[in-house]
Amino acid sequence: MAKIIDGKSLAARVREGLKADIEKVKAARGRPPGLAVVLVGDDPASAVYVRNKETAANGIGMFSEVIRRPASTTQSELMEIIGQLNRRADVDGYLVQLPLPKGLDVAAVTNAIDADKDADGLHPLNLGRLVTGEPGPRPCTAAGCLALIDDAGLKLEGKHAVVIGRSTIVGKPTALMLLERNATVTLCHSRTRDLAAEVRRADVIVAAVGKPGLVKGDWVKPGAVVIDVGTTRDEAGKLRGDVDFESAAAIASAITPVPGGVGPMTIAMLLTNAVHAAVLRTRG
Ligand code: NAP
Repeated sequence: MAKIIDGKSLAARVREGLKADIEKVKAARGRPPGLAVVLVGDDPASAVYVRNKETAANGIGMFSEVIRRPASTTQSELMEIIGQLNRRADVDGYLVQLPLPKGLDVAAVTNAIDADKDADGLHPLNLGRLVTGEPGPRPCTAAGCLALIDDAGLKLEGKHAVVIGRSTIVGKPTALMLLERNATVTLCHSRTRDLAAEVRRADVIVAAVGKPGLVKGDWVKPGAVVIDVGTTRDEAGKLRGDVDFESAAAIASAITPVPGGVGPMTIAMLLTNAVHAAVLRTRG
């Protein structure tokens, strides 16, 4: 039976590890690192994610603010909020919660965020920094996946990693971060011809698709590490991952649960990006 990689406990350790930097920032400028979240519309899942982010930030003594606006918010009103957040001295990092209501231009919004305050690590400049290996905030879910793999004790160098899903938010940055750590990476998507055959060669599998139970236990190489990013709510309201947990856990060496795996780590990495941004701004 695989070891269960406990994302909640790792996230708590990451948050604990940020406290020293938070204290340093407070001592240097008299106020803690600040994280803001812009929530437009009334998507219930987004409301939960945003509340979790606010609670996590407050829990470690950061300043945190949620800017809530109705779904009728116009593009220019949203751009005005972003302009203000770019200028505000008390906000070191912020994000605009996705998805945005129909009619709002996600790319224009993402591009308008000051790249140094980009807590999600998804600004094109920061994605470019990831490609070129320069320092910068890394996309939170991808960074969370890498931290979970490290926590499982897997040495990535020379290993074969298979990432399923090629979104800009999760799949592509995770593949790049695995490559940065000298894994040999295969990036699969909906047009991949024989997904099972690709996955069977993997020492580490990262599933980021949004199709519950897509990855079966008999696709998992004995001893592989399995990171399940998928979160889909079934009819009963239960969160389901992309991996068939029972069958995969019988063969893998380590596996993340859903919930309690990648989700808490995504938030821990968001806080990490905001605190690091504050440290850099404090240094000047
Ligand atoms: P997305 O933008 O919809 O991307 C899904 C990817 O899966 C696409 O690249 C798609 O391929 C690929 N795909 C779809 N069907 C496939 C199949 N049958 N075989 C192989 N690949 C297939 O989704 P996302 O934003 O990356 O999110 C993925 C999942 O992760 C969702 O369940 C989401 O809720 C979850 N998520 C969780 C967290 C967290 O913190 N836990 C954070 C972000 C996302 P094409 O590109 O060819 O269409």
